[in-house]
Amino acid sequence: RKENNNIICDDLKEGEKRCIPNPVCKFEDVFEHYPDIMANIRKAGFQKPTPIQAWPIILQGIDLIGIAQTGTGKTLAYLMPGFIHLTSQPISKDQRGGPGMLVLAPTRELALQVEAECLKYTYKGIKSICIYGGGDRKGQIDVVTKGVDIVLDEADRMLDMGFEPQIMKILIDVRPDRQTVMTSATWPDGVRRLAKSYLKNPMIVYVGTLDL
Ligand code: ADP
Ligand code: MG
Repeated sequence: RKENNNIICDDLKEGEKRCIPNPVCKFEDVFEHYPDIMANIRKAGFQKPTPIQAWPIILQGIDLIGIAQTGTGKTLAYLMPGFIHLTSQPISKDQRGGPGMLVLAPTRELALQVEAECLKYTYKGIKSICIYGGGDRKGQIDVVTKGVDIVLDEADRMLDMGFEPQIMKILIDVRPDRQTVMTSATWPDGVRRLAKSYLKNPMIVYVGTLDL
């Protein structure tokens, strides 16, 4: 176990080395070469990244568990690196046979909020679609394909609402070399269990009182 500020790296295999990035102080440190992202950040008027916006970890392809209270910018913490991965992948959507990123959220309202944030910050023709029960079924797509990376947003609430069987069903169908990100406002046993079962050597960024 290595520690660097509030970023903790756990359970590495014998001999495996991993660089633990420092917290991001300025947007330019990460997005200097992504003018579309920088333009959207300026337009939003953000001053600096929030502590949970540990973008270099996701950009390195490492599974991440992000624990921070509501309103701390967790959505952009996973969307920005998602956009970069989607626009820089050598494999096209057609070759992949489906979408490159799937975000699972516990309620329709939250799914729509993620979609709104996505539409606000997206660029370069990245397309998104919001799917929920009782919604417009025309938009339904077969999301569980070879190429998809996964974000579990508000994992604690998904478990509280009894969605564990559905989460498990989706996750076991997705290719094992996917990247998985999980966000949560709390870090109870259920979320730890879920993380242990479905994330691979994740890093944890925990904002708040360290209670691991
Ligand atoms: P969470 O998912 O942690 O509850 P959200 O992702 O919904 O929080 O973000 C809450 C609000 O903060 C949103 O309006 C979002 O656009 C905004 N936000 C995100 N990142 C920053 C930042 N670096 N500085 C200021 N506001 C931000
Ligand atoms: Mg959120």
